[in-house]
Amino acid sequence: MELLRFKAIEKMLHHEPVNVALPESKVSDYFGIDVFSIDKMRDYVSSDAYESVVSAITEGRRIERKVADQVANGMKRWAMERGVTHYTHWFQPLNESTAEKHDTFAEPVWGETRALEKFSGAVLVQQEPDASSFPNGGLRNTFEARGYSAWDPSSPTFIIDDTLCIPSIFIAYTGEALDYKTPLLRSIAAIDKAAVAVCQLFDKDAATKVVPTLGWEQEYFLVDEGMYRARPDLELTGRTLMGHSASKDQQLDDHYWGDIPERVMNFMKELEYRCFRLGIPVKTRHNEVAPNQYECAPMFEEANIAVDHNTLLMTIMRKVANKHHLQVLFHEKPYEGVNGSGKHCNWSLATIDGHNLLAPGRTPKSNTQFLAFFVATLKAACDYGTMIMASVATEGNSHRLGGHEAPPAVLSVFTGAYLDDILQQIEQRISEKALTPDEKTGIKLDIGRIPEIMLDNTDRNRTSPFAFTGNRFELRATGSSANCAMPLIVLNTAVAHELTVFKNEVEALVNKGVKKDEAILQTIRKFIIDSKKVRFEGNGYSEEWHNEAKRRGLRGIETVASAIREYIAPENIALFEQYGVMNRSELEARYEIKNETLLKKIQIESRVLGDLAANHIIPTAINYQNVLIRNVEGLKNLFGDEYKEMASAEITTIRKISEHVKAIRELSAEMLDARRKWNTVEDVIERAIGYENVVKPYISQIRYHIDHLEMIVDDRLWTLPKYRELFTI
Ligand code: ADP
Ligand code: MG
Repeated sequence: MELLRFKAIEKMLHHEPVNVALPESKVSDYFGIDVFSIDKMRDYVSSDAYESVVSAITEGRRIERKVADQVANGMKRWAMERGVTHYTHWFQPLNESTAEKHDTFAEPVWGETRALEKFSGAVLVQQEPDASSFPNGGLRNTFEARGYSAWDPSSPTFIIDDTLCIPSIFIAYTGEALDYKTPLLRSIAAIDKAAVAVCQLFDKDAATKVVPTLGWEQEYFLVDEGMYRARPDLELTGRTLMGHSASKDQQLDDHYWGDIPERVMNFMKELEYRCFRLGIPVKTRHNEVAPNQYECAPMFEEANIAVDHNTLLMTIMRKVANKHHLQVLFHEKPYEGVNGSGKHCNWSLATIDGHNLLAPGRTPKSNTQFLAFFVATLKAACDYGTMIMASVATEGNSHRLGGHEAPPAVLSVFTGAYLDDILQQIEQRISEKALTPDEKTGIKLDIGRIPEIMLDNTDRNRTSPFAFTGNRFELRATGSSANCAMPLIVLNTAVAHELTVFKNEVEALVNKGVKKDEAILQTIRKFIIDSKKVRFEGNGYSEEWHNEAKRRGLRGIETVASAIREYIAPENIALFEQYGVMNRSELEARYEIKNETLLKKIQIESRVLGDLAANHIIPTAINYQNVLIRNVEGLKNLFGDEYKEMASAEITTIRKISEHVKAIRELSAEMLDARRKWNTVEDVIERAIGYENVVKPYISQIRYHIDHLEMIVDDRLWTLPKYRELFTI
């Protein structure tokens, strides 16, 4: 039988790009057409109901039952006009996907042979999915295994596949959050309150609402569907567990921002079309550094909606890729030796009327306010840096962070030379005694200069995990497969805390008789000093930074298991509890789920590798070795003693194959033993540590031998597509 590998290559070579019929009309004609946005709601519900929903969104008010009935009715009408037959609560459980269970609108009429389409407010507002198999980290015992999903009116309902999807939160019977959205919404409320209070220090009539904004940048790989199916490791683990590097991959930097292949272009066009219909404002598309690596980024949005849009995007990407006979890889490191994928999270704070609080303003006063928010973020990164890193620590991301293409595993902040200089000036020139008039104007002048300076300040430090980029912070440590809610929850809460501390300290000084302007400057200075150790302007990839970070006492991710312990560190539990974002048991549950996921991922990889080694690699190597042996025997028959010299290279290769095969066998057996041993450990946390420290290292050790065999064995016998083939589209 011909090998699957060659069939897949054959098929790939004959793939015609899949053409999609896209409308001729402008994007603005269909943008958001599949979304029941608040403005559309106006046409489908009474103005009273409309106003209630608006205030539910802006002020977090409850929606009354009567209003919910009206909204449900309007939604149903709108959806059915568009051919929708089903509805579902759409939520983000604590795994890496979204959940939905579809119900039809149609209900039979009792005693009659006909049906009516129904959708009540009660069903819109709350459902009870039979969801006992979602990760719950012990938050739900089976005797109270109920989970509830509840409508989140602040994120609009949308249509996919003739189904009305209702963005929802997902909570346990006890009210504890079983998802990402619930704590995200709580953290958004916390930072709103804290930020408004700081704005009001500057202006009593200032903004009444502040929202965090998020602009994500999604990196991903595409791979031909046939190649993917012929690589069980890719299919089952999302990454290649073996594969010798291709002679040419990204050395020449010829993929980055290069011409987009036609198959991929068609995929992107259809993806964008579907995104636009769903109101996802995707803006940029380009080739990334590695072969077949791409990126897609939208305009930033309010954080809750941006998170929904990112998870939705990932779902649509998978669907569209399928249609184009492609597969999307969201794994952080699908291929060794070439760049991995991240999901940069650009984060800022905006007032309800759209003013960006992390953008320097035009006057000294507005710049002082900018500095207040800026230093509060610095301080949050300094005090809660390890928790921020814990929020992005996953098995997949551990293969990327700290490599030479991704941020280091220690959190530091890059501010840019000019801001760094201004921070230093403030630190040095403001003293704790009252300021002289000279000092005041001097400092204020410098502060007033920030905006012009920022315009020229285009130097970007790509090696920093958390960089200030002019009017926002960019967290680059997030992995490409992650739900970006988690780092945002931490960031929002930590910054909410620092803003609260900021406000309290200013007020304490004012109460001691210090003038408000000075109190603010002094507090800014204090925050600058207290957060100094997290600032780093140099090369984050360098060896020196490694040592320097250690010297400064900054801890990073060493192992995933140790990093995620931050979830249950007392200071973090205190932080999240204080701002009502997550309580102790919610954090403990997340900690447990993280450990479980970590160990399961390693377990699956280890099994897949053991399997492939035994069933693909070793038999293939032996087949080829037999070819060599027959050759040597033939030479001996023909040439007698002379054969020894003629066949010396063959004999060496025969030996090498034996050595590699022996090593693979031994290491696989040891890996299996290690798994067995750690499987008997009752405690999931201990088990995860064992898996990561003991089982995981075998994976790369075994790979080493397999990759050597790949270079030895006859190409025609090798069963698994090679890197150069996986890189072809
Ligand atoms: P780069 O690759 O240089 O980081 P991109 O254009 O790829 O730049 O990404 C910039 C991202 O930052 C976009 O998603 C953009 O919407 C986002 N962004 C810009 N301003 C803000 C803001 N105020 N808040 C959040 N995100 C923002
Ligand atoms: Mg970026």
